[in-house]
Amino acid sequence: MASQLIREWSGIQQFPLATQTKLLELLAKLKHENVTTLTILVMGKGGVGKSSTVNSIIGERAVAVSAFQSEGLRPVMVSRSRAGFTLNIIDTPGLVEGGYVNDQALEIIKRFLLNKTIDILLYVDRLDAYRVDNLDRQVVKAITDSFGKGIWHRALVVLTHAQLSPPDCLNYEDFFSKRSEALLKVVRLGARIRRQDFQGAAIPVVLVENSGRCNKNENDEKILPNGTAWIPNLIETITNVISNGSKAIVVDKKLIEGPNPNNRGKILIPFILAFQYFFVVKRIQRAIKDDIAKEDKPLWELRDRGLANREF
Ligand code: GDP
Ligand code: MG
Repeated sequence: MASQLIREWSGIQQFPLATQTKLLELLAKLKHENVTTLTILVMGKGGVGKSSTVNSIIGERAVAVSAFQSEGLRPVMVSRSRAGFTLNIIDTPGLVEGGYVNDQALEIIKRFLLNKTIDILLYVDRLDAYRVDNLDRQVVKAITDSFGKGIWHRALVVLTHAQLSPPDCLNYEDFFSKRSEALLKVVRLGARIRRQDFQGAAIPVVLVENSGRCNKNENDEKILPNGTAWIPNLIETITNVISNGSKAIVVDKKLIEGPNPNNRGKILIPFILAFQYFFVVKRIQRAIKDDIAKEDKPLWELRDRGLANREF
């Protein structure tokens, strides 16, 4: 990473003053906790607004946005520094192609991340989608299989297109909570996290509106329909997750080339089976044999063995 060109984060000056002040406050808070580099990995399906979200956070057009799927296969890392603090955001290509998780894209992302530390995962999807399906689950599973379940302790679900008008009969808050619930369930199932463990993990769901037509408040900050200035809110949620006591994900060779990080215990399975056979099954078999040997034989059995006559 030393050779990487780290530019001054000048895009921050594009934000209205109120946003700048809040962002600098949050960066100061992170620095106070000895966090001077923040690496954010952005993942999700294609066309959900990953690249647009990267640009919104940085405050400049750093990565290409496309209404049609024409993304390359390579991830892009944008690095900016400000007052001794470095922000890295890694934009990735969509993980789905032709209705399946694109393993090649995933492999390229993993290699790109080698020797990097992921502080935060932004799992991006759209607010204005009405259903989740098995494919969403497969995407979550692919991320989990690559980086381990621990990545979900460092994750936020980001929903773009947040300035939507929900379909009739639903108010905005209800729509948001239904969509969040459905996506969080998919994350839990795809990551194979037990319900009770998942509740403790509490993955935040944050709303984003990347459109230039986003409403603004009196300070000129982009706001959501509920009045929240979403850029400071997103960065604040990220800083809260950083401070939640969980570990960042170090992407080393072992993680990339080793067995699925969630399956390491599976190596023990043959030993456990052998142990069960010799120490449990065999003992039970022996006990049953002994029992049978000690048992009084019924008359019919003695007769069948030709012993009955001798006894009478
Ligand atoms: P990616 O494939 O996930 O990187 O998605 P892009 O960032 O390239 O966005 C795909 C399309 O959705 C582009 O036409 C964007 O302008 C549009 N888009 C992304 N985010 C939003 C959003 O929050 N609101 C609206 N209205 N459009 C968005
Ligand atoms: Mg993109």
